[in-house]
Amino acid sequence: MIIPERVQCDICKATKEESNGWTVTLESVKPGSAHLTFAESREVFSDPSTGELPGDAFFSDLCGQECAHTQLSRWFESHSSAPTATLES
Ligand SMILES: [Zn+2]
Repeated sequence: MIIPERVQCDICKATKEESNGWTVTLESVKPGSAHLTFAESREVFSDPSTGELPGDAFFSDLCGQECAHTQLSRWFESHSSAPTATLES
């Protein structure tokens, strides 16, 4: 797996370093897209024959579970047309 020179978590701005065992989690989603995909690397989304990433994909770098949850929450918020539970009575 190729690790880009300098990867920062898009949520908490932590920097990935080879020594810290940081697991890069990425999503492939266009802004406003109906789907959200998490994967362990961008290479998962690349074309097997050319190795190129899809040009219309939108990636975020995430340092781990906590920031993945934050990204997931943002995705839900961007799709707020769906019925939302409320605690108000
Ligand atoms: Zn993070």
